[in-house]
Amino acid sequence: MTPPFPVAAGRYESFRENVRPRARLVVREGDRPFRDEIDLQAQWFGGEFGRCFTGTGGEKIEILQFGHWNRGAGPDFTEVAVCIDGELRRGALEIDIDVRHWERHGHLTNPDFNAVILHVFTDQPALNRIFTCTADHRHVPQLLLPQFTGLQGRPDFLPEAFPGRCVTPLNSMSDTEVNSLLVAAAQYRLQQKSERLRIMINSTSSEQAMFQAIAEALGFRRNKTAMAILAQRCKVRDLLEMEAAEREAWLFGAAGFLDPGLSEEGIGEKARAYLRQLRDHWGKRRDRIDSKSLRAINWRCDGVRPLNHPQRRVGALACLVGHWERLQPFWEENVNNFEKQVNNLLKDVRHPFWEHHYTFRCEPSRIPRRLIGKDRLRDILGNVIFPGAIRLEPACWSEYAGLGRVDSNQKLRRATLRLFGNNARRQKLFTRYYHQQQGLLQIFEDFCLEDASDCGDCRFPEQLTQWRGPVAIPSARDGIYAG
Ligand code: SF4
Repeated sequence: MTPPFPVAAGRYESFRENVRPRARLVVREGDRPFRDEIDLQAQWFGGEFGRCFTGTGGEKIEILQFGHWNRGAGPDFTEVAVCIDGELRRGALEIDIDVRHWERHGHLTNPDFNAVILHVFTDQPALNRIFTCTADHRHVPQLLLPQFTGLQGRPDFLPEAFPGRCVTPLNSMSDTEVNSLLVAAAQYRLQQKSERLRIMINSTSSEQAMFQAIAEALGFRRNKTAMAILAQRCKVRDLLEMEAAEREAWLFGAAGFLDPGLSEEGIGEKARAYLRQLRDHWGKRRDRIDSKSLRAINWRCDGVRPLNHPQRRVGALACLVGHWERLQPFWEENVNNFEKQVNNLLKDVRHPFWEHHYTFRCEPSRIPRRLIGKDRLRDILGNVIFPGAIRLEPACWSEYAGLGRVDSNQKLRRATLRLFGNNARRQKLFTRYYHQQQGLLQIFEDFCLEDASDCGDCRFPEQLTQWRGPVAIPSARDGIYAG
């Protein structure tokens, strides 16, 4: 039995706040940024950083409306509403990787940026403060974001794989104590995901938030942000009004997969016919999106298994929209047995081309392959269905807690090795369930990813004593001191 949701999440949250290092990685001149600016904007717009912040000048900042993502010249977001120290301000918002880009990109002297009410960035120089000023000499409040969000982690960064300093104190804790820590971390993670969805729902709509979250789950690690950008460009409301073929063309076109650069030479007959059909539909509709002004989406194909190729994922997303009326109730109604019902739905997501192809160009496979397999099912459940459903029905935590494990990945393997060393029994015992794996990932992201000292400065091992049950103090009645 695990504690009801979110009882344990609060305990983990206070533990985390007391233990986590306060230091922030400093970006020096010439350092490569952790991410692309468009990725950062997509994460911001998707509510991944939250909506309540403290500005660099100590201001209390609340984002009331995330506004419109401006694809053309001028500030990144327009029609934004922000409450700063209790005062409502409306205008534009600019997001940069580095605060110095305001000047370097010429915004300091560009009157188009006079409407900016908040300058958001992730990096600033270590020693001197840079202020943001408009061409009409107005100071703009600034907001320094975390360099990466807890839900996503720093891209492509994995700490060394070795047993961590916390192995010994964890070994001295009972299985029940370790499990309660993992359960609490898992509840906290689920709560964070749920909160992020709430922000997305508030700034868009329930159906658009669900659509983006599903797109992200299909993008999995490497193309999560790329799929989020695609979902932000193609609103599900518009897609639902289209015929299936048109919807597919719209998604593939906005993804950049129908660009003239993709030659039809060397493509099989079936693929060529399919590609032409998509291009025909896209040609009729593309004027509705000013696609020339859109920055290309940065799709990642390195290290992606053929079955997870982004073209196949976009195909799966298009098919899922065709079953939309079966998806929405998962966030709206009290559902019995989410896993079975979502699995049944995903079995029906079929496509004559994408069941046999990984990309437009590859050789077809004779055997059809499921468009959305077991691990994506678990991720859709864990990242979309349950975080959305638990807002209305906290009791669905018990079903979440019973979800079986997903196949291990590099991050999970490192987390397990770091926390449990070579203790095979514990490695197995604490990765049997999805929620345990999620708890491990949360601890790994909160502590290992924030540590730059090979465990030397990490306070997690010492503070683990906080997590143990009350230490039994022997009394005379126990007979220990008898005699
Ligand atoms: S960084 Fe901290 S939590 Fe991670 S392995 Fe080292 S001691 Fe353990």
